Amino acid sequence: MSDLRQDIEQMVRQALRELAPELAAPGTTPAPGLAPTGARPATSTPSYGQRVPLVAANWKMNQLSAPARAFIAELEAKDRQGVQTVLCAPHILLPVLAAARRQTGLQLGAQNFHPEAAGAFTGEHSLAMLADAGVEAVIIGHSERRNLFGETDALLARKLAFALTHGFLPIFCIGENLAERRDGATFRVLRNQLVAGLAGLAPPFPEPDRVVFAYEPIWAIGTGLNATAVQAQEAAAFVRERLAEKFSWAWAQKVRVLYGGSANEKNAAELAAQPDIDGFLVGNASLKAPTFSSIIEQTAACKRRP
Ligand code: PEP
Repeated sequence: MSDLRQDIEQMVRQALRELAPELAAPGTTPAPGLAPTGARPATSTPSYGQRVPLVAANWKMNQLSAPARAFIAELEAKDRQGVQTVLCAPHILLPVLAAARRQTGLQLGAQNFHPEAAGAFTGEHSLAMLADAGVEAVIIGHSERRNLFGETDALLARKLAFALTHGFLPIFCIGENLAERRDGATFRVLRNQLVAGLAGLAPPFPEPDRVVFAYEPIWAIGTGLNATAVQAQEAAAFVRERLAEKFSWAWAQKVRVLYGGSANEKNAAELAAQPDIDGFLVGNASLKAPTFSSIIEQTAACKRRP
């Protein structure tokens, strides 16, 4: 398909989304277990568009059990109406969080797993172990795993397919480094990481609400220098377009694309207002419940439709 035709199709779809979202993507009921969660029951049923926003915390190698328990209590007291919330904690804290949480809708995620059922894999955790601890989501392809722990595209593709087969919600991360952005190679890098990561998936494809993608420019992670709303939007739209090539336009309109990279309570509203950004993967700003819940509330406010 020519670039011009793709551009025209995209413009028509965008206009349709704005004028008549129900025509652009009919029937997008969230799957059980992936429904929006909240601390308070809804008095009316607000609409959040065709994709349920998702905000995930990536605690990395931070937090101990006492502050983690306090975090859960504080977060559960906040309004998370309309936003799927996932806490990706260090493995050792996952059972602690599972025991401390009162709302099963507050989902737990792991930052790593090994794509084998069981066996002689010293130091690793299987998906069965994670499920046993109450975990429903897994981060795959985070730049720290790619760059610090040498996880290759081939391994990440295996992990993605394995997580999907075992009913986990993968949050698949991609993003360019600073040199690549300066070189004008951002889109090439994103395309290559997506193509390689999705290589293990064959029909029947997963439902679009069973997998999440996160655009995480490496230069923005942990630096305090977030991508601008324009940069994040164009990357998220690019990711969605590439997903449409692998799956279908209808599928890509329903899949969530998050932004990650120094997202915080000050920049969340502007980023979440972008049409192709469906939420956040949050590192530093997820370590304190007030800032994390502020990001969630601002995301809900941006995505809520009257
Ligand atoms: C991350 O590690 O996924 C991340 C986005 O970190 P930070 O928000 O600290 O940049």
